[in-house]
Amino acid sequence: MNNPYYFDNNATTAVDPTVLQAMLPYFSEHYGNASSAVHPYGWSASKACERAREKVADLLGAESSEIIFTAGSTEGIHLGLTGLYQRFEKERKTIISYETEHKAVLGTLDYLATLGAHIKLLKVDRFGLPDLQTLKDHLDTSVLCVVAALANNETGVVFPLKEIAAMAHEQGAFVFSDLTQAPGKMMLDINELGIDLACISAHKMYGPKGTGALFLRRKNPRVQLLPAMQGGGQEKGLRPGTLNVPGIVGLGAAAALAKENTWNWGAHVSRIRTWFEQQLTEDGRAYINGSTRSRLPNTSNILFEDFRAAELLKKFSFMAIATGSACSSALAEPSHVLSAMGLNKEQASASLRFSFGKDNTFEQVQDAANKAKDILQQLKENQ
Ligand SMILES: *Cc1c(COP(=O)(O)O)cnc(C)c1O
Repeated sequence: MNNPYYFDNNATTAVDPTVLQAMLPYFSEHYGNASSAVHPYGWSASKACERAREKVADLLGAESSEIIFTAGSTEGIHLGLTGLYQRFEKERKTIISYETEHKAVLGTLDYLATLGAHIKLLKVDRFGLPDLQTLKDHLDTSVLCVVAALANNETGVVFPLKEIAAMAHEQGAFVFSDLTQAPGKMMLDINELGIDLACISAHKMYGPKGTGALFLRRKNPRVQLLPAMQGGGQEKGLRPGTLNVPGIVGLGAAAALAKENTWNWGAHVSRIRTWFEQQLTEDGRAYINGSTRSRLPNTSNILFEDFRAAELLKKFSFMAIATGSACSSALAEPSHVLSAMGLNKEQASASLRFSFGKDNTFEQVQDAANKAKDILQQLKENQ
Protein backbone atom coordinates (compact mmCIF):
# COMPACT_ATOMS: atom_id res chain seq x y z
CA MET A 1 0.00 0.00 0.00
CA ASN A 2 1.15 3.53 -0.70
CA ASN A 3 1.81 5.65 2.33
CA PRO A 4 -1.17 7.87 3.02
CA TYR A 5 -0.83 11.62 2.53
CA TYR A 6 0.42 13.09 5.78
CA PHE A 7 -2.13 15.66 6.97
CA ASP A 8 -1.38 15.31 10.67
CA ASN A 9 1.25 18.00 11.10
CA ASN A 10 -0.20 19.23 14.40
CA ALA A 11 0.62 15.82 15.91
CA THR A 12 4.21 15.89 14.71
CA THR A 13 6.23 16.92 11.66
CA ALA A 14 8.97 15.38 9.53
CA VAL A 15 12.44 16.59 10.46
CA ASP A 16 13.56 19.02 7.75
CA PRO A 17 16.64 17.69 5.86
CA THR A 18 18.68 20.79 6.73
CA VAL A 19 17.82 20.30 10.41
CA LEU A 20 18.94 16.68 10.24
CA GLN A 21 22.21 17.68 8.55
CA ALA A 22 22.89 20.23 11.27
CA MET A 23 22.36 17.56 13.96
CA LEU A 24 24.42 14.71 12.52
CA PRO A 25 27.94 15.86 13.52
CA TYR A 26 26.81 16.11 17.15
CA PHE A 27 26.17 12.37 17.46
CA SER A 28 29.57 10.91 16.64
CA GLU A 29 32.03 13.72 15.91
CA HIS A 30 31.30 16.53 18.39
CA TYR A 31 29.97 14.19 21.03
CA GLY A 32 31.22 16.03 24.10
CA ASN A 33 29.19 16.76 27.21
CA ALA A 34 28.26 20.43 27.15
CA SER A 35 29.12 20.61 30.87
CA SER A 36 32.72 19.42 30.31
CA ALA A 37 34.30 22.84 30.57
CA VAL A 38 37.92 21.67 30.51
CA HIS A 39 38.44 20.21 27.02
CA PRO A 40 37.58 20.93 23.37
CA TYR A 41 34.91 18.20 23.16
CA GLY A 42 32.95 19.96 25.87
CA TRP A 43 33.62 23.39 24.40
CA SER A 44 32.25 22.57 20.97
CA ALA A 45 29.14 20.95 22.46
CA SER A 46 28.56 23.90 24.74
CA LYS A 47 29.13 26.42 21.93
CA ALA A 48 26.63 24.60 19.72
CA CYS A 49 24.02 24.70 22.50
CA GLU A 50 24.57 28.42 23.07
CA ARG A 51 24.16 29.10 19.34
CA ALA A 52 20.92 27.11 19.42
CA ARG A 53 19.78 29.10 22.45
CA GLU A 54 20.24 32.33 20.50
CA LYS A 55 18.19 30.97 17.60
CA VAL A 56 15.35 29.93 19.89
CA ALA A 57 15.42 33.33 21.59
CA ASP A 58 15.40 35.00 18.20
CA LEU A 59 12.32 33.01 17.12
CA LEU A 60 10.43 34.23 20.19
CA GLY A 61 11.82 37.76 20.34
CA ALA A 62 13.45 36.91 23.69
CA GLU A 63 16.98 37.07 25.13
CA SER A 64 19.04 33.89 25.14
CA SER A 65 19.38 34.16 28.93
CA GLU A 66 15.60 33.66 29.08
CA ILE A 67 15.65 30.20 27.43
CA ILE A 68 15.84 26.86 29.27
CA PHE A 69 16.20 23.69 27.19
CA THR A 70 13.66 20.95 27.94
CA ALA A 71 12.58 17.60 26.54
CA GLY A 72 9.55 19.19 24.86
CA SER A 73 6.41 21.07 25.74
CA THR A 74 4.96 18.60 28.23
CA GLU A 75 8.11 18.95 30.30
CA GLY A 76 8.27 22.73 29.79
CA ILE A 77 4.70 23.07 31.04
CA HIS A 78 5.39 20.92 34.08
CA LEU A 79 8.65 22.66 35.02
CA GLY A 80 7.23 26.13 34.42
CA LEU A 81 3.90 25.80 36.19
CA THR A 82 5.03 23.57 39.05
CA GLY A 83 8.15 25.65 39.65
CA LEU A 84 6.13 28.88 39.63
CA TYR A 85 3.50 27.51 41.98
CA GLN A 86 6.06 26.18 44.45
CA ARG A 87 7.89 29.50 44.47
CA PHE A 88 4.81 31.67 45.04
CA GLU A 89 2.22 29.46 46.76
CA LYS A 90 2.44 31.41 50.01
CA GLU A 91 1.50 34.63 48.22
CA ARG A 92 -0.92 33.51 45.49
CA LYS A 93 -2.64 30.16 44.99
CA THR A 94 -5.09 30.62 42.12
CA ILE A 95 -4.35 29.60 38.54
CA ILE A 96 -6.81 30.47 35.78
CA SER A 97 -6.86 28.51 32.56
CA TYR A 98 -9.23 27.27 29.85
CA GLU A 99 -11.11 24.02 29.25
CA THR A 100 -9.61 23.80 25.75
CA GLU A 101 -5.97 23.61 26.85
CA HIS A 102 -3.78 20.68 25.84
CA LYS A 103 -3.79 17.68 28.20
CA ALA A 104 -0.21 18.54 29.13
CA VAL A 105 -1.56 21.72 30.76
CA LEU A 106 -4.73 20.20 32.19
CA GLY A 107 -2.79 17.28 33.67
CA THR A 108 -0.26 19.60 35.32
CA LEU A 109 -3.07 21.75 36.73
CA ASP A 110 -4.74 18.64 38.20
CA TYR A 111 -1.44 17.83 39.86
CA LEU A 112 -1.06 21.37 41.23
CA ALA A 113 -4.57 21.09 42.68
CA THR A 114 -3.31 18.15 44.77
CA LEU A 115 -0.58 20.48 46.10
CA GLY A 116 -3.24 23.00 47.16
CA ALA A 117 -3.57 25.25 44.11
CA HIS A 118 -7.01 26.68 43.31
CA ILE A 119 -7.59 25.93 39.65
CA LYS A 120 -10.28 27.78 37.71
CA LEU A 121 -10.96 26.50 34.21
CA LEU A 122 -12.88 29.00 32.12
CA LYS A 123 -15.20 28.15 29.26
CA VAL A 124 -14.93 29.16 25.63
CA ASP A 125 -17.70 30.10 23.21
CA ARG A 126 -18.84 27.95 20.30
CA PHE A 127 -16.04 29.36 18.16
CA GLY A 128 -13.47 28.19 20.69
CA LEU A 129 -12.71 31.75 21.83
CA PRO A 130 -12.59 33.08 25.40
CA ASP A 131 -14.84 35.78 26.83
CA LEU A 132 -12.57 38.52 28.16
CA GLN A 133 -15.16 39.93 30.55
CA THR A 134 -15.39 36.53 32.26
CA LEU A 135 -11.63 36.53 32.66
CA LYS A 136 -11.74 40.03 34.13
CA ASP A 137 -14.42 38.93 36.60
CA HIS A 138 -12.22 36.08 37.82
CA LEU A 139 -9.01 38.10 38.12
CA ASP A 140 -7.90 39.48 41.48
CA THR A 141 -4.69 39.61 43.50
CA SER A 142 -4.99 35.95 44.54
CA VAL A 143 -4.29 34.90 40.95
CA LEU A 144 -0.75 33.65 40.43
CA CYS A 145 -0.95 32.90 36.74
CA VAL A 146 -3.21 32.83 33.70
CA VAL A 147 -2.43 29.88 31.45
CA ALA A 148 -3.62 30.07 27.85
CA ALA A 149 -2.28 28.51 24.66
CA LEU A 150 -1.76 30.92 21.78
CA ALA A 151 -3.12 28.40 19.26
CA ASN A 152 -5.20 25.31 19.89
CA ASN A 153 -3.78 22.05 18.54
CA GLU A 154 -7.17 20.56 17.62
CA THR A 155 -8.96 23.49 16.01
CA GLY A 156 -6.13 25.95 15.33
CA VAL A 157 -8.14 28.68 17.10
CA VAL A 158 -5.87 31.57 18.10
CA PHE A 159 -6.54 33.27 21.45
CA PRO A 160 -6.29 37.06 21.98
CA LEU A 161 -3.20 36.62 24.14
CA LYS A 162 -2.23 40.27 24.18
CA GLU A 163 -5.55 41.28 25.73
CA ILE A 164 -5.46 38.35 28.16
CA ALA A 165 -1.92 39.24 29.24
CA ALA A 166 -2.76 42.92 29.76
CA MET A 167 -5.67 42.00 32.04
CA ALA A 168 -3.62 39.47 34.00
CA HIS A 169 -0.80 41.96 34.52
CA GLU A 170 -3.19 44.56 35.94
CA GLN A 171 -3.68 42.18 38.87
CA GLY A 172 -0.01 41.26 39.11
CA ALA A 173 -0.54 37.75 37.71
CA PHE A 174 1.94 36.01 35.43
CA VAL A 175 0.97 34.72 31.99
CA PHE A 176 2.01 31.29 30.75
CA SER A 177 1.35 30.51 27.11
CA ASP A 178 1.73 27.17 25.39
CA LEU A 179 3.16 28.30 22.04
CA THR A 180 3.76 24.78 20.71
CA GLN A 181 1.52 25.13 17.66
CA ALA A 182 2.58 28.63 16.64
CA PRO A 183 6.16 28.57 15.25
CA GLY A 184 6.32 28.57 11.47
CA LYS A 185 2.58 29.30 11.29
CA MET A 186 2.34 32.79 12.77
CA MET A 187 4.78 35.55 13.69
CA LEU A 188 5.82 35.43 17.33
CA ASP A 189 6.98 38.15 19.68
CA ILE A 190 6.68 37.43 23.37
CA ASN A 191 7.11 41.12 24.24
CA GLU A 192 4.37 42.18 21.88
CA LEU A 193 2.13 39.45 23.34
CA GLY A 194 3.16 40.21 26.92
CA ILE A 195 3.84 36.60 27.88
CA ASP A 196 6.01 35.81 30.93
CA LEU A 197 6.46 32.04 30.53
CA ALA A 198 6.08 29.98 27.35
CA CYS A 199 6.99 26.62 25.90
CA ILE A 200 7.79 25.32 22.43
CA SER A 201 8.61 21.86 21.09
CA ALA A 202 10.99 21.05 18.22
CA HIS A 203 8.97 18.16 16.76
CA LYS A 204 5.98 20.39 16.02
CA MET A 205 8.16 22.62 13.80
CA TYR A 206 10.23 20.25 11.64
CA GLY A 207 12.76 19.47 14.38
CA PRO A 208 13.45 16.30 16.37
CA LYS A 209 11.22 14.73 19.02
CA GLY A 210 12.19 15.00 22.67
CA THR A 211 13.56 18.56 22.59
CA GLY A 212 12.00 21.89 23.37
CA ALA A 213 12.39 25.11 25.29
CA LEU A 214 10.88 27.02 28.17
CA PHE A 215 10.94 30.82 28.05
CA LEU A 216 11.16 32.61 31.42
CA ARG A 217 11.02 36.41 31.37
CA ARG A 218 13.95 37.99 33.22
CA LYS A 219 12.64 41.52 33.75
CA ASN A 220 9.31 43.29 34.16
CA PRO A 221 8.34 40.97 35.70
CA ARG A 222 11.21 38.64 36.57
CA VAL A 223 9.91 35.07 36.64
CA GLN A 224 11.39 33.01 39.46
CA LEU A 225 10.84 29.28 39.81
CA LEU A 226 11.76 26.60 42.30
CA PRO A 227 13.34 23.63 40.55
CA ALA A 228 10.69 21.00 39.89
CA MET A 229 13.42 18.42 39.16
CA GLN A 230 16.49 17.78 41.29
CA GLY A 231 19.94 16.78 40.13
CA GLY A 232 22.87 18.52 38.45
CA GLY A 233 23.10 22.26 37.95
CA GLN A 234 22.33 22.34 34.21
CA GLU A 235 19.96 24.99 32.88
CA LYS A 236 20.24 27.13 36.03
CA GLY A 237 19.36 24.10 38.12
CA LEU A 238 15.82 24.19 36.69
CA ARG A 239 16.26 21.32 34.24
CA PRO A 240 19.12 19.17 35.49
CA GLY A 241 20.55 16.41 33.32
CA THR A 242 23.10 16.17 30.52
CA LEU A 243 22.03 18.35 27.62
CA ASN A 244 20.70 16.55 24.54
CA VAL A 245 23.23 18.26 22.29
CA PRO A 246 22.11 16.86 18.89
CA GLY A 247 18.49 17.51 19.80
CA ILE A 248 19.23 21.05 20.93
CA VAL A 249 21.19 21.75 17.74
CA GLY A 250 18.14 20.45 15.82
CA LEU A 251 15.82 22.66 17.86
CA GLY A 252 17.99 25.69 17.05
CA ALA A 253 18.11 24.88 13.35
CA ALA A 254 14.34 24.32 13.31
CA ALA A 255 13.75 27.62 15.13
CA ALA A 256 15.83 29.55 12.60
CA LEU A 257 14.06 27.81 9.72
CA ALA A 258 10.62 28.52 11.17
CA LYS A 259 11.41 32.17 11.75
CA GLU A 260 12.72 32.60 8.22
CA ASN A 261 9.80 30.80 6.56
CA THR A 262 6.76 31.72 8.63
CA TRP A 263 5.39 33.91 5.90
CA ASN A 264 6.00 31.45 3.00
CA TRP A 265 4.79 28.40 4.87
CA GLY A 266 1.77 30.26 6.19
CA ALA A 267 0.76 31.39 2.72
CA HIS A 268 1.29 27.89 1.31
CA VAL A 269 -0.72 25.95 3.89
CA SER A 270 -3.42 28.58 3.96
CA ARG A 271 -3.89 28.25 0.21
CA ILE A 272 -4.21 24.48 0.26
CA ARG A 273 -6.42 24.52 3.33
CA THR A 274 -8.82 27.05 1.84
CA TRP A 275 -9.19 24.92 -1.25
CA PHE A 276 -9.61 21.72 0.73
CA GLU A 277 -12.27 23.21 3.00
CA GLN A 278 -14.19 24.64 0.06
CA GLN A 279 -14.26 21.24 -1.60
CA LEU A 280 -15.39 19.35 1.49
CA THR A 281 -17.94 21.81 2.81
CA GLU A 282 -19.62 22.85 -0.44
CA ASP A 283 -22.51 20.39 -0.10
CA GLY A 284 -23.61 22.09 3.12
CA ARG A 285 -23.41 18.99 5.36
CA ALA A 286 -19.92 19.59 6.69
CA TYR A 287 -18.94 22.48 8.96
CA ILE A 288 -15.72 23.97 10.17
CA ASN A 289 -15.22 23.74 13.94
CA GLY A 290 -13.72 26.83 15.53
CA SER A 291 -13.37 30.47 14.60
CA THR A 292 -12.38 30.95 10.97
CA ARG A 293 -11.35 34.53 11.76
CA SER A 294 -8.82 33.78 14.43
CA ARG A 295 -7.18 30.54 13.38
CA LEU A 296 -3.84 29.05 12.38
CA PRO A 297 -3.38 28.88 8.60
CA ASN A 298 -2.80 25.10 8.48
CA THR A 299 -5.50 23.53 10.66
CA SER A 300 -8.92 22.37 9.58
CA ASN A 301 -11.28 20.68 12.01
CA ILE A 302 -14.39 19.55 10.14
CA LEU A 303 -17.68 18.21 11.44
CA PHE A 304 -19.27 15.74 9.00
CA GLU A 305 -22.87 15.99 10.10
CA ASP A 306 -24.18 12.65 8.81
CA PHE A 307 -21.27 10.40 9.75
CA ARG A 308 -19.16 8.99 12.53
CA ALA A 309 -15.50 9.92 12.50
CA ALA A 310 -14.43 6.33 13.19
CA GLU A 311 -16.23 5.18 10.06
CA LEU A 312 -14.88 8.06 7.98
CA LEU A 313 -11.38 7.48 9.26
CA LYS A 314 -11.44 3.95 7.81
CA LYS A 315 -12.73 5.15 4.45
CA PHE A 316 -10.24 8.02 4.45
CA SER A 317 -7.24 5.72 4.90
CA PHE A 318 -5.45 7.49 2.02
CA MET A 319 -4.91 10.38 4.45
CA ALA A 320 -3.14 10.34 7.83
CA ILE A 321 -5.46 12.52 9.91
CA ALA A 322 -6.78 12.74 13.47
CA THR A 323 -10.06 12.36 15.29
CA GLY A 324 -10.30 15.00 17.98
CA SER A 325 -6.82 15.18 19.41
CA ALA A 326 -3.98 12.84 18.53
CA CYS A 327 -3.28 12.18 22.18
CA SER A 328 -6.78 10.95 22.94
CA SER A 329 -7.47 9.25 19.61
CA ALA A 330 -6.87 5.86 21.24
CA LEU A 331 -9.65 6.64 23.72
CA ALA A 332 -13.31 6.41 22.87
CA GLU A 333 -14.08 9.72 24.59
CA PRO A 334 -14.98 12.63 22.36
CA SER A 335 -12.50 15.49 22.18
CA HIS A 336 -12.54 17.67 25.31
CA VAL A 337 -11.85 20.70 23.11
CA LEU A 338 -14.88 20.19 20.87
CA SER A 339 -17.03 19.35 23.89
CA ALA A 340 -15.91 22.58 25.58
CA MET A 341 -17.05 24.44 22.45
CA GLY A 342 -20.53 23.05 22.97
CA LEU A 343 -20.54 20.24 20.43
CA ASN A 344 -22.56 17.27 21.66
CA LYS A 345 -21.04 13.81 21.85
CA GLU A 346 -22.28 12.87 18.41
CA GLN A 347 -20.97 16.03 16.77
CA ALA A 348 -17.61 15.78 18.51
CA SER A 349 -17.21 12.19 17.37
CA ALA A 350 -18.16 13.12 13.81
CA SER A 351 -15.28 15.59 13.54
CA LEU A 352 -11.89 15.12 11.93
CA ARG A 353 -8.74 17.21 12.10
CA PHE A 354 -6.66 17.85 9.01
CA SER A 355 -3.41 19.69 9.70
CA PHE A 356 -1.30 20.62 6.70
CA GLY A 357 2.42 21.27 6.59
CA LYS A 358 5.07 22.86 4.43
CA ASP A 359 5.74 19.60 2.57
CA ASN A 360 2.15 18.99 1.49
CA THR A 361 1.56 19.83 -2.14
CA PHE A 362 -1.48 21.22 -3.86
CA GLU A 363 -1.64 18.00 -5.91
CA GLN A 364 -1.84 15.86 -2.76
CA VAL A 365 -4.62 17.96 -1.32
CA GLN A 366 -6.48 18.06 -4.61
CA ASP A 367 -6.32 14.28 -5.01
CA ALA A 368 -7.32 13.72 -1.38
CA ALA A 369 -10.25 16.12 -1.58
CA ASN A 370 -11.54 14.49 -4.77
CA LYS A 371 -11.35 11.03 -3.23
CA ALA A 372 -12.99 12.22 -0.01
CA LYS A 373 -15.84 13.86 -1.92
CA ASP A 374 -16.50 10.67 -3.87
CA ILE A 375 -16.56 8.63 -0.67
CA LEU A 376 -18.93 11.05 1.08
CA GLN A 377 -21.20 10.92 -1.95
CA GLN A 378 -21.24 7.11 -1.95
CA LEU A 379 -21.89 6.92 1.77
CA LYS A 380 -24.81 9.29 1.38
CA GLU A 381 -26.31 7.23 -1.40
CA ASN A 382 -26.09 4.12 0.78
CA GLN A 383 -27.71 5.75 3.78
C1 LIG B 1 2.22 18.62 21.08
C2 LIG B 1 1.73 19.61 22.04
C3 LIG B 1 2.16 19.58 23.39
C4 LIG B 1 3.09 18.52 23.90
O1 LIG B 1 4.37 18.70 23.37
P1 LIG B 1 5.48 17.54 23.49
O2 LIG B 1 6.73 18.24 23.08
O3 LIG B 1 5.08 16.48 22.54
O4 LIG B 1 5.53 17.10 24.90
C5 LIG B 1 1.69 20.56 24.23
N1 LIG B 1 0.85 21.51 23.80
C6 LIG B 1 0.42 21.58 22.53
C7 LIG B 1 -0.50 22.68 22.11
C8 LIG B 1 0.84 20.62 21.60
O5 LIG B 1 0.41 20.69 20.36
